[in-house]
Amino acid sequence: MLKAAFPGSFDPPTLGHINIVERAASIFDALVVVVAENRQKKYLFSAGERVSMIRELVKGHKNVAVETCDTLIVEFLRQRGISLLVRGVRGPADFSYEFEISMMNKALNPRIETIFMTTDPEYFILRSSSIKELASFHGDVTGMVPPLVAEALRAKYGHPS
Ligand code: ADP
Repeated sequence: MLKAAFPGSFDPPTLGHINIVERAASIFDALVVVVAENRQKKYLFSAGERVSMIRELVKGHKNVAVETCDTLIVEFLRQRGISLLVRGVRGPADFSYEFEISMMNKALNPRIETIFMTTDPEYFILRSSSIKELASFHGDVTGMVPPLVAEALRAKYGHPS
């Protein structure tokens, strides 16, 4: 059984993330979306909020689970007997960053294989940090995030006056 993990901050989940989840779920027998809970980082949405948004968004995919992780990802993978990591790549800058992380993970555990999935072209500009900035100025995020995420962003930043 091919089981993979797709880790990230998902703060908040975007249509680009969901696209990777859907495509990975059609390749692997089981996929765990791993929501990072890193105490050093400041998130807009709590881990609980991020998990419940993603669970709602992927509920149609019976082979997808959503969990949080507050340890190193290699430790999370070891505990669950998973050796495949999926990462999304929007362009060369993402690739060079993701490549370094994959080398680090391999140094920590040589059995871990990272599989890079290129973004579908319509999602390549989508980045959680830019979407948060746009939402903080009450910009229109329709077409960038699912409606429930757009609503959650409005709840955080308020409606334009
Ligand atoms: P980001 O702020 O870059 O969206 P995340 O940590 O939430 O950061 O991203 C988790 C994973 O999803 C990473 O592998 C990232 O490259 C990938 N990803 C993020 N946005 C997209 C997108 N629009 N298309 C494809 N992959 C993406």
